[in-house]
Amino acid sequence: MRIALIDTTKRRSHYSVALLKLGAWIRDRGDECALFEGTLPPAGEFDEAWLSTVFSFDMPRALDFARASRDRVERVQLGGVSASLFPDYFTREGFEVVRGIVPEADGFPPAYDLLSERPEYAITKTTHGCPRSCDFCMVPRIEPKFGAREHWQDAVPEGVSQIIFYDNNILALPPRKLDCTLTEICDLAAERKIREIDINPGLDARLLTSRSADLLEGLPGLSPRFAFDGMQADGYYQRAVRMMAERGTKEFRTYVLFNHTGTLAEFYYRIRTSAELQVELRAAGYRVTVKSYPMKFTPVVEPDLARDHIGFHWRRSDRDAVRKILSSSSGGSMYVSPTTLDEFEYWWGRNVDEFLTLLRYPKLSLLLQRRRGSLRLKRARATQRNRSDGR
Ligand code: SF4
Repeated sequence: MRIALIDTTKRRSHYSVALLKLGAWIRDRGDECALFEGTLPPAGEFDEAWLSTVFSFDMPRALDFARASRDRVERVQLGGVSASLFPDYFTREGFEVVRGIVPEADGFPPAYDLLSERPEYAITKTTHGCPRSCDFCMVPRIEPKFGAREHWQDAVPEGVSQIIFYDNNILALPPRKLDCTLTEICDLAAERKIREIDINPGLDARLLTSRSADLLEGLPGLSPRFAFDGMQADGYYQRAVRMMAERGTKEFRTYVLFNHTGTLAEFYYRIRTSAELQVELRAAGYRVTVKSYPMKFTPVVEPDLARDHIGFHWRRSDRDAVRKILSSSSGGSMYVSPTTLDEFEYWWGRNVDEFLTLLRYPKLSLLLQRRRGSLRLKRARATQRNRSDGR
């Protein structure tokens, strides 16, 4: 049998590791397969098409791919995150949906040779699931059981310079197992000359201990991503950043959820906290950057194809205003990453009242445009002054 593995994602940042594992399993069964990233297989050359889905807003595209595949192969099935969360979207048109992880394929190392180029990074995970059940997260729905995964090293081929870990909550491992896993990562990185470790979904600040902080700091090139998604992490988040800064971490990237059930004041507090932490730590002599990455909540119970969900305390205009300020202040990176507290306040307001006034300012786009212009002018003048002072 010949199976076409189709990645339907429009903008992919990484290859689909799930499809590569499926590829390895298919070959192990004695069947053949080929990978199609954003393209369709030629008609008549494959018996089946297995389509992967990731983002819910990409589902119409995935459905188009499934419909088009139907004319080219005998059987079409879909899997991946959005198909697992919203199977009805596809089954109502008669497509088969495989929900969650395919256990038969999960143990296989990815078939990297299916990719058109040798990858510079490996993707693996040392755990599956998460013991928490945050209502905004799809993990408890897709991988309901938390536990360690064995043989995660098999997914790391020789010659890669980076390992991306897709662990949802690695710090939730029991202390001894965590100790052992982080030591194994460190050893593998040293043995294979890995320059960068990225624990992509983020670290649970509430679970960081001195011991795990010591071990994390030993991982090459790690810029810890903590989550400050709600007030439940308040205090823990600040403690975690201070602990890692004391151990030498230079850059922090923090996920900050908005447009969910938290208030606008809480959102302001959470992004301001990172700006204040940066000021505090720099004043103490640590050369750190503490960036916030605001993430707009997307429902995990009902599909939000128009990407138009409005959080409980939010108005549509508030949600859109946050995106506008973010875009103007970050120069497109979409991080809140001011160099000083003054710069933070320049864009986001000096307090919650100013922040709310700013969000509801009738000509916000024009105001942001002016602020961007005058900041550019200020910086140009400062550079010129420095040059004439010979600095
Ligand atoms: S701790 Fe993180 S991974 Fe776990 S359920 Fe909450 S958001 Fe999801």
